[in-house]
Amino acid sequence: VYLKKMEAHGFKSFADKADISFDAGVTAVVGPNGSGKSNITDAIRWVLGEQSARSIRGVKMEDVIFNGTTDRKAMNYAYVRLVLDNASRTLQMDADEVHITRKLYRNGDSEYYINKERTRLKEINELFLDSGLGRNAYNIISQGEVDEVLKAKPEQRRGLIEEAAGVMKYKLRKKESEKRLEETADNLDRVHDIIHELE
Ligand code: ATP
Repeated sequence: VYLKKMEAHGFKSFADKADISFDAGVTAVVGPNGSGKSNITDAIRWVLGEQSARSIRGVKMEDVIFNGTTDRKAMNYAYVRLVLDNASRTLQMDADEVHITRKLYRNGDSEYYINKERTRLKEINELFLDSGLGRNAYNIISQGEVDEVLKAKPEQRRGLIEEAAGVMKYKLRKKESEKRLEETADNLDRVHDIIHELE
């Protein structure tokens, strides 16, 4: 999988619709301080499902919506779309190109899409799990994160290796199954109680 393109409209400083294409290889973004370089990586994190406003340098999620300048009206929504090359079928979808879209309105309504289909964040997370992409996959390394890895506790570092090795998916499924087992055991207990009362 590789990121071919990012479109943004109404996201942070992208008041006009921005269309940023990435070629295979290395892309460098240059510009003066405050011109919006980091807003590009914020947008990528966000569309991949970032839930913490703080991680993308905001206080509340609505802070990602273009809030106007002296000569431009604020916008009502923020929109980001990624176009991913999936010729390798790394993402479990039978499509050469996968589009991921996230939209957030000022009233707090939010929408996710995979290609043209409206979806939930859970589906997006699952699509990227163990693909080496996704918001938790350490493919966006921000300033300070390198230090964090060096200072991480052994368990945290193990988490990193597990994510890279692709076992995270199974760990999550195991956790879900254990939870379901527990719920089933609770239900059984209740059924036993009722039977006992009836006897
Ligand atoms: P640096 O070199 O300091 O890292 P940068 O080029 O990475 O800077 P960013 O931090 O990405 O710049 O961009 C910050 C700019 O985005 C600021 O000018 C800020 O006013 C603008 N900005 C952030 N959020 C919004 C928003 N919701 N509406 C309008 N502009 C915004």
